Amino acid sequence: MMKTIYDVIIIGSGISGLATVHFLRKIRPDLRVLLLEKSERAGGAVQSFFEDGFLAECGPHGFLDNVEESREILCDTGLDKEAQTVPLGDFRRFVCHRGKLVALPQKPRSMLTTSLLSVKAKLRLLGDLWIKPRQEDQTIAEWAEYRFGKGVLPLVDVAVIGTFSGDYQRLSIDAVMPGVRRLEKEYGSIFRGLKAKKKKSKKSGPLPTMKNFPQGLERLVEVLARNREIVFDSSVRRLNRQDNGYYHIDTAKKRFSAHNVVMALPVNPALSLLSKLSTPPVAAIPVSRIFNVALGFTDRAQIPYGFGYLAPETENRFALGALFSSQMFPGRAPTGHVLLEALVGGRRHPEKLKLADEEIIKRVLDDIKQLINLPEPPVFARVLKPAGGIPQLELDHPRLLEWRRTLEDKEKGLYICGFGWDGIGINDMTKSARRVAEAIVAGGRGKAEKDAVKGVYF
Ligand SMILES: Cc1cc2nc3c(=O)[nH]c(=O)nc-3n(C[C@H](O)[C@H](O)[C@H](O)COP(=O)(O)OP(=O)(O)OC[C@H]3O[C@@H](n4cnc5c(N)ncnc54)[C@H](O)[C@@H]3O)c2cc1C
Repeated sequence: MMKTIYDVIIIGSGISGLATVHFLRKIRPDLRVLLLEKSERAGGAVQSFFEDGFLAECGPHGFLDNVEESREILCDTGLDKEAQTVPLGDFRRFVCHRGKLVALPQKPRSMLTTSLLSVKAKLRLLGDLWIKPRQEDQTIAEWAEYRFGKGVLPLVDVAVIGTFSGDYQRLSIDAVMPGVRRLEKEYGSIFRGLKAKKKKSKKSGPLPTMKNFPQGLERLVEVLARNREIVFDSSVRRLNRQDNGYYHIDTAKKRFSAHNVVMALPVNPALSLLSKLSTPPVAAIPVSRIFNVALGFTDRAQIPYGFGYLAPETENRFALGALFSSQMFPGRAPTGHVLLEALVGGRRHPEKLKLADEEIIKRVLDDIKQLINLPEPPVFARVLKPAGGIPQLELDHPRLLEWRRTLEDKEKGLYICGFGWDGIGINDMTKSARRVAEAIVAGGRGKAEKDAVKGVYF
């Protein structure tokens, strides 16, 4: 029997793998594409949880509609008609400040009036206009303090907690915000750079909206995985390029062959496979794990109208923050009830994840009751434990990206995208997926994109 040589094999059927097939099939429907997936389900970190009428998320809680590739997927699949839409402009975000919830400024101008910053801290923000950019990479905390002063650090901390559940004293500014750094170096100031960018783009539309679905975010996976050739329970253990130019990809049970291979995996599982082709500068990168404590209450709970809150480390709270899920997305709780999802752990506090579930629930409730009026105990409480964590783009990351570039140049037909390489959000995954799909079809590396300046919404 003739052995099948696939045009493309994608390792991993999370959003990265599924989005890559989506774009590949759209551009070249004739290509034979196979996905190999370690577990028994597609979707990776995206996993919705439904019990007793409450709908929570183990992983991502939605994605913003400000990236073309994700919008394209929604339109192509018809999911744009099903999606629930939460305009960020209508939903306040709160920060825990001196033991109370304070609304976060949504626009740069409202920074001037917020009680979250002292007068001195507000004046110091203007230092950005004349402070010379440092060329070298720095942690986000060092960079923010240098450009904007110490006073702004708790707000930067919550931004980092809300996106990476990370530690801003370890994450690399060059890796996390390459677009902002480009602007800083080009204009000598972030404020000047943003102004120039706004002038160039001539539009300053409303804030983006957050998307999810009435069945939970897993609906996106369900639709993207439909009619795809996926082999489940197939953990890839090795890949080798043969002299005749194609790859052998080995799982425990079977060998597969393909002209092109896409590693659509989080950085660490990718490194363990790729290190057999070339030694990476680091064996693994840090990962931040969080648990999601889903709490259902009757509607006597006085949850503020908004998106949720975050607490900077200086507030010394048990929970990192909480999402006011049923305020944002209707149908997340039975009639007469509300759902709140509190986040625990993160890069700084892995020890909290070792506590028993009852203890975690108790401590979360003790914490949140000081911030929100919860007159009754919860009617529903579950600790959801995502299997993986969020890869952390810390100070070694730019070196790792350089190594990936060299490896991809050397190994023709090898493409590397996925969780933690070029970012951590779903929108980062869809962007990389389209770039990889286009590069495969073009038979090369594809255009390197200029680092975009991403808005920070947390
Ligand atoms: C707790 C949490 C909250 C998040 N919140 C948000 C959010 O609110 N908004 C947002 O935009 N993003 C969020 N994210 C990030 C988002 O989930 C990721 O961007 C996205 O899911 C990554 O997709 P991926 O396909 O690259 O990786 P994954 O989802 O990790 O998928 C990788 C797949 O590869 C498989 N695999 C691994 N090793 C092998 C192997 N050797 N062989 C074959 N298969 C393998 C895995 O089983 C998995 O299915 C969150 C992530 C987490 C963990």
